[in-house]
Amino acid sequence: MQMKSHVLCATEETRSVEVSKPEVLRPILGPAFERLIHASPDVLIEAVRKYGSPLNIVLPHVLMQNVEALRAVLHRHKVGYEIFYGAKVNKSPGLVRAAVEAGIGVDVSSIYEMRDALHAGIDPSRLCATGPAKTRLFHVALITHAALISVDSIEELDDLEAIVREIQPSHPVRVLLRYRPDRSASSRFGMEADTLVACLERLASLQGAFSFEGFHFHLSGYDDASRVKAMRELVYFVDVASRMGIEPTMIDIGGGLPVQYVDSDAYAAFLEAQHNSHYRNGKMPASFYPYGGQIDACEWIDRFLASPCVETMSIAEYLNAKHLTLAIEPGRSLADQTALSVFRVTRVKLLAADKAVAFVEGSSFSACETWFASEFLVDPILISTSLNGEHEALPTRVWIAGHSCLDEDVITHRLIHFSRRPREGDLLVYANTAGYQMDLLENEFHRHPMPRRISVSFDAAGGMQISPDDRMEYSNDFK
Ligand SMILES: *Cc1c(COP(=O)(O)O)cnc(C)c1O
Repeated sequence: MQMKSHVLCATEETRSVEVSKPEVLRPILGPAFERLIHASPDVLIEAVRKYGSPLNIVLPHVLMQNVEALRAVLHRHKVGYEIFYGAKVNKSPGLVRAAVEAGIGVDVSSIYEMRDALHAGIDPSRLCATGPAKTRLFHVALITHAALISVDSIEELDDLEAIVREIQPSHPVRVLLRYRPDRSASSRFGMEADTLVACLERLASLQGAFSFEGFHFHLSGYDDASRVKAMRELVYFVDVASRMGIEPTMIDIGGGLPVQYVDSDAYAAFLEAQHNSHYRNGKMPASFYPYGGQIDACEWIDRFLASPCVETMSIAEYLNAKHLTLAIEPGRSLADQTALSVFRVTRVKLLAADKAVAFVEGSSFSACETWFASEFLVDPILISTSLNGEHEALPTRVWIAGHSCLDEDVITHRLIHFSRRPREGDLLVYANTAGYQMDLLENEFHRHPMPRRISVSFDAAGGMQISPDDRMEYSNDFK
């Protein structure tokens, strides 16, 4: 494959900018990414000059579009639904605000995530709290706000009962019970059948104090079939609860809706052809997120709803027959196409005639897949910032390292083919980093300041607005 298409745009008389199209794992770029990277690379260069490197750029309006796309599928199946944005996927307050403005709920797993959602103006009854280790403070805040609480264990239910006795809230505590599907028998999350039934009995006897709203599960992995199976397992418990006089009204199937980062054929070809020698450390990672999966989140939920449930009913028909609302908690898939991470190249060190390591301003804590013994299988896009007529292209295989003194601080072990060798001052743009990639592990190692995050929006006239989108963690206002 040869790289042919470049975008050239003169920014100054003596200097021009070139955006290279990656060749192997070319990121899928929605219109907003296209616009930022290809139509206005000079905006990225200027933003990095102003806010530093790495720079995380979020596009909150895209999250709203992702919500609309999911809604369209749910409407088509005529099911009652509730969408909770899985807020842990990214620390951006702007993305939480977009979720709230789109009119969906937020799945929070800490009092800090809850605070972001409240700051964004959420109706507190649209909060759903998951996670196995909620603190007493978090529980009290959830109860007083009449949020929905997914109870992970009978011990958690004990704690909630104690709090209810103590603070005597004015309304019943709204709970879901988290089920542990058969296929995750060794998981520490959720409850198996006996404990689940014991919780139901308890809730049936505490009807003034608690309002049982239904069942929840969340599975790791990304296939729809495992959710279909878990849903079928829950049918039995729906009947058990109904017989006890506590009719469930919601089934929450968690998150895990897939994201397509690269073309699925290109991805399959990459996996087929990859070899240890394609990695600078001579080692292919054992597993990857399915970056080039066959289906997107909409197709996934479509298949789920159309799958057989009981007797001749599909899941959608079963939910409707039982007056059950389907809840989903997408994190990664709502954050699809909502953020870019831009790293400025500090130095390129030649290791062989056609092999180099590029050091960037920033670390693998801001692009963290390598810390999970895996790799973000999306090629970065090179923005060459200082071309003049004399520079030859110099095709080179390059791996990308962070600026710390940790040997492990590698952003990309994979040797990426660039038909133009990156140079100091160039930018490497990783597209679609919002999902657990850009800020999960970010820190101030070496006392480098926290990377900045900015939010970009486009107005009807085609103008671009940039505003800071830093998070609020530094002040603890829960006193
Ligand atoms: C992490 C998590 C989610 C979101 O998962 P994604 O894979 O990002 O969609 C939803 N629900 C629960 C309980 C989670 O822990």
